[in-house]
Amino acid sequence: MVEYKSRKGKIYPSDIAQLKASVIAARSRYNITKAYVSTDGEIKEVNVNKSNTVLFEEIKEAYELTVAIVSGKTVTVCYKSKYKCPTCSMRAHCEFSVSVY
Ligand code: SF4
Repeated sequence: MVEYKSRKGKIYPSDIAQLKASVIAARSRYNITKAYVSTDGEIKEVNVNKSNTVLFEEIKEAYELTVAIVSGKTVTVCYKSKYKCPTCSMRAHCEFSVSVY
């Protein structure tokens, strides 16, 4: 499986979590044992040659955070990043953003 991101450059932990979630979902039809994240500047192989249970444990925190956000709960956990914050659509409203200026 390949998780392709059209942006230039860096691969984020959220890309890897998204790839693992996709692998778990697709395994109901396909026996996926190799997976990659690709951007315009990087390609990274992610070890997914493990059980769905193990893969889910690796993304459980991100999954639970996503479920809370989708259900409208106020979330105070943040993962500020000097790479992500400058281009984040929430930056103008976020008290945690990393300033690069
Ligand atoms: S601006 Fe705020 S919401 Fe956006 S990546 Fe940074 S910390 Fe997260």
